[in-house]
Amino acid sequence: MASTPNDKSEAEQAEELTAKMQKLTPNVDGALQDTTWTWEDDLLYALPARTARKCARRDCPKTEPLEPPEDTAKRFAACAKCQTARYCSRECQIQDWKKGGRHKRMCPQLIAFKNFDRDQKRRAVIVGCLGKVRLYVFPFYVGKRAKVGDGFLFLQCPAPLEDFFFDTDVTRYGEPQKRAVVASYVTPKEFDDELVAADFELALARRGVLEAVGQADDSKAAVLCKFRCGFVCAFVTKIVPDVRVCAALCADYEEMATLRLNIDDDS
Ligand SMILES: [Zn+2]
Ligand SMILES: [Zn+2]
Repeated sequence: MASTPNDKSEAEQAEELTAKMQKLTPNVDGALQDTTWTWEDDLLYALPARTARKCARRDCPKTEPLEPPEDTAKRFAACAKCQTARYCSRECQIQDWKKGGRHKRMCPQLIAFKNFDRDQKRRAVIVGCLGKVRLYVFPFYVGKRAKVGDGFLFLQCPAPLEDFFFDTDVTRYGEPQKRAVVASYVTPKEFDDELVAADFELALARRGVLEAVGQADDSKAAVLCKFRCGFVCAFVTKIVPDVRVCAALCADYEEMATLRLNIDDDS
């Protein structure tokens, strides 16, 4: 197992970062604190979106297969601190830790995220994901609800929750961060007919989703979020911006069945 140069202890760094986040996030947006959680789960699966794992140093193109070779000497070595970033060679690991590399900044974040409890994960959903897309998804939600009746906002996030929360420009695999959110509006009937039938894991969320839909009203939206890492949650949260503003903006989305938002694109 390769190790990394050491300044502060990993526990110290993780603690510092967690404290900083706790101080920052309750005040990010008062309205978004007005949230009632009805269901959540770590489904503990990873979607097979890739066949190979890239060396975590951004500029290194080397990859190893996701099923690593039997011979452990031939495998990429993981960072001894976070156990997450994996490198093709000792050189790449050292480069990534030095000035100009990314991992010195990311490593404590990855460690901190691993130790997140439920409350911190909830905060990560609100601040990291919903906080970034609310100006678009709530007008979309308000328009659809007025048109088709009760339902919920379904946010599918093809990146792990940690990527939404931490503003790093590179993933743990050294790839450029490309966060996206696909929003759709789903009625309870569509949920049963289409999503539950096609996705066993979502069936687990059924009770929480229906409860959230039951609690939603003209100023509160029912939301179901699903992240690449397997974290899924249903909740009711205040509509931000104000519902009248959303109603005025909703015409922009009238023709759209789904809304795709690319967070890291400038376009
Ligand atoms: Zn690390
Ligand atoms: Zn490398």
